[in-house]
Amino acid sequence: MSDAGSIPPDVTAPLETAADVLTACDTLAAISSSDSGINRRYLTPEHAAANATTAGWLKAAGLRSWQDGAGNLWGRWCPPALIAAADSEAGVPRLVIGSHLDSVPDAGRYDGILGVLLGVAALTHFRQRADAGEQSLPFALEVVGFGDEEGARFGATLLGSHAIAGRWQSDWERVEDEDGIPLGDALERFGLSGQTAARASLQANPPLGYLEVHIEQGPVLEAENLALGTVTGIAGARRFAVNFVGQAGHAGTTPMALRQDALCAAAEWTLAVESLACDVQAGKRADMADHSLVATVGCCELRPGAVNVIPGGAALSLDIRALDDAQRDRALDELLNEAHRIAARRGLTFHCEQTHAADAVACDEGLMQAVDAGIAATGQAPFRLPSGAGHDAMAVSHLCPVGMLFLRCERGISHHPLEAVTEDDVAKALAALIASIEAVAVRHV
Ligand SMILES: [Zn+2]
Repeated sequence: MSDAGSIPPDVTAPLETAADVLTACDTLAAISSSDSGINRRYLTPEHAAANATTAGWLKAAGLRSWQDGAGNLWGRWCPPALIAAADSEAGVPRLVIGSHLDSVPDAGRYDGILGVLLGVAALTHFRQRADAGEQSLPFALEVVGFGDEEGARFGATLLGSHAIAGRWQSDWERVEDEDGIPLGDALERFGLSGQTAARASLQANPPLGYLEVHIEQGPVLEAENLALGTVTGIAGARRFAVNFVGQAGHAGTTPMALRQDALCAAAEWTLAVESLACDVQAGKRADMADHSLVATVGCCELRPGAVNVIPGGAALSLDIRALDDAQRDRALDELLNEAHRIAARRGLTFHCEQTHAADAVACDEGLMQAVDAGIAATGQAPFRLPSGAGHDAMAVSHLCPVGMLFLRCERGISHHPLEAVTEDDVAKALAALIASIEAVAVRHV
């Protein structure tokens, strides 16, 4: 662990412009547990340093900040007139802007971080406007930087956002990281505990909504030549460990007609997976109206795996996602039936086991319209797209309505040091976020 990577740098100026936000992304990128690349995991010294640095930008803007019982970093701006009108600040409705501050191993510098820092810049903007006597908002604004979204340390993802949604599970505290440190111990070393994490729940006083800005992590906006997009929902995913079992045999002596080649069955099925998802996306399946379906065979391991042996076993993975859970499950049934047919025809057996399941999350129509209006305010025509990747908004949807704004990233590359955005796009995202908040305010009055 590099010491330099866990010392919070001094922060003196607030985040006001896209250039400030990009410089701040560079500052956070230097907070890493490894000298090369960005590694910032939950409940580590780097997590504490990223929280302290982000709190510095909030403080520089005259905003209050605190860390909750799950290690999430918060900032808040409340229009003074609302505090005066309400019995207490807790009674003031609030809109939460956020994303995550943790990273995958050898990460890019914008995934999650950019959304948090754009939130900090938006709060700064509204505070400065109110200070200048300009029209205020009918609600408070909060920004949250979640401590764990990626699950890079404990395997379980979205720990920070699950905590605020009141979905902290005490049995998670026994899950260990790669050094054998249980999550419960890691919380204690961070000055927290399972109890404080459970108490981070906001279920007793939910916000009126949650808005997340995030890089797209895919190539759609770039292909459309657009900077920004309104997210319609986050695809639900199911994952399986899949096995074709045939008969290994001598590659020289076994006639072609007498083989039970597991790889040939797996290959035939993999093409069937691709073909079904392509047909659905191309609108060729009248019975499948949701065109967001994607299906991927990402792993293939052969047994015994030798140049002169017919493969006797093929172990594959399947990842299938769509915005419509019921349709995704129908497509899945079709693919599993096809696997059984292929296996039977070739004299093999087929079995599979589910390893992950998450339902799709729909974005709130009112927040989508606000984000559309925010994009329109930048001069770009609104454009809607689904998210195939998971985000904190999935967990937060159990707490309050959620909306998301995507911005273009170069070639769709993410979870990689080559992650890149342009200053112009970040400026548009900041303007769109501010205008989206104003649109929520118009609807809220
Ligand atoms: Zn992310």
